[in-house]
Amino acid sequence: MTNYKTLVLSVDELWLKGKNRKYYFKGFKNHVKAIIKRLHNDSTICRNESQKLVVESPTPFTQELIDALIWLPGLQSLRPSVEVNSDYKVIIDEAMKLVDQVGLEEKTFKVLCKRKDKSFPIKSTEVNQNLGNLIPENFPHLKVDVKNPDLFLEIKIYSHKTFISFETYKGIGGLPSGMTGHLLTLISGGFDSPIASFLMAKRGCSQDYIFFYAYPYVGEEVKDKILLMMEKLKRFHYRSRLYVVPFGDVQNKIAKSCHTEYRTLLFRKYMLECSSLLAKDINAHGLITGDNLGQVSSQTLENITALDQATSMSIFRPLVGLNKKEIIKMSRDIDTHDISTIPHDDACSLFAPDAPILRPDPNYLEQYYKKNDFTQDLKQALAEAEVYTFDCRRNNI
Ligand code: ATP
Ligand code: MG
Repeated sequence: MTNYKTLVLSVDELWLKGKNRKYYFKGFKNHVKAIIKRLHNDSTICRNESQKLVVESPTPFTQELIDALIWLPGLQSLRPSVEVNSDYKVIIDEAMKLVDQVGLEEKTFKVLCKRKDKSFPIKSTEVNQNLGNLIPENFPHLKVDVKNPDLFLEIKIYSHKTFISFETYKGIGGLPSGMTGHLLTLISGGFDSPIASFLMAKRGCSQDYIFFYAYPYVGEEVKDKILLMMEKLKRFHYRSRLYVVPFGDVQNKIAKSCHTEYRTLLFRKYMLECSSLLAKDINAHGLITGDNLGQVSSQTLENITALDQATSMSIFRPLVGLNKKEIIKMSRDIDTHDISTIPHDDACSLFAPDAPILRPDPNYLEQYYKKNDFTQDLKQALAEAEVYTFDCRRNNI
């Protein structure tokens, strides 16, 4: 990468935010600043330039920093840029210098000039044409293709400053972290819950995580897998915690006291109840699960409804209408796929019946809840939870 000392970040959905724009912009800026504090060793200035966040430093930014910034919720795109005075000759010279430094292989390109300051004396089309001729003359391996170019050379002319850039990093978009509230995600080892978490992070929800750990009935490698997954999920957050809750004893009690076919459903019910207790403690507004309609037997409409009725908290299920292939594709996009495929014991399939209930009997459930109160067990499990904190300002847990 060329030695860029300026980054231009576009924030998604600001145009929808009316009077709250400033608040959203500030939230995004704070997250960016926190990452910079960890990964950039020099002073920086962060400023608003026509609703873009411009970050400047006397020394070049690293690829590592860019790789971290592109996961921040709310980022539409990031362009490492060269910043020059809005003077036509300077702009052309610096654009040529940049093309030279980038040292590209054979590629096609298109010049995209935008005059944000209409008083600038040269029209955008003239800048496009001029550079479109000059570049191939000086760098014959680069050819103009206005229809389907490999690269865009962007020139944004503001009243005093002009930004020149050759590369765009696409962000995940959505809303800045924490803008819409705080949720507790039930994280398990499969494909689904990490994607559910990602989709809600994209919508501006900061999150803590809870994992029900059925040790010693499941191996220790399950916890390692969850910790590995957290390394991916923490990229979306300013700060989040993982609660690893010992759950084997509770599951044992449930398994012994219910009809075999109700085990999976009841494990899930008490996971949700325990999560609700924690959510209240940590001021989370609701729960996130990776439930997906009809994917497994515990996810029939009847079971999902029964679970909703058994918990006081709102449950967000952003995957409910997605197909498995769509979920797996997203897991590749956000790089959680290879962790999800690591084999693991599943706490819900532990003691699981061969034929789990599909249409639970509401009377049976009502009776069961009346006879069995696990509140103390759940509180005890929460008290014994191991807590890991992830903070974007620090390198390690
Ligand atoms: P995933 O791929 O996320 O593991 P799944 O397809 O295996 O999900 P289930 O096992 O039925 O589906 O679980 C549905 C949801 O319940 C999960 O997405 C997760 O949100 C929650 N869940 C299941 N097991 C656990 C657990 N041990 N700890 C925390 N949450 C869990
Ligand atoms: Mg699972």
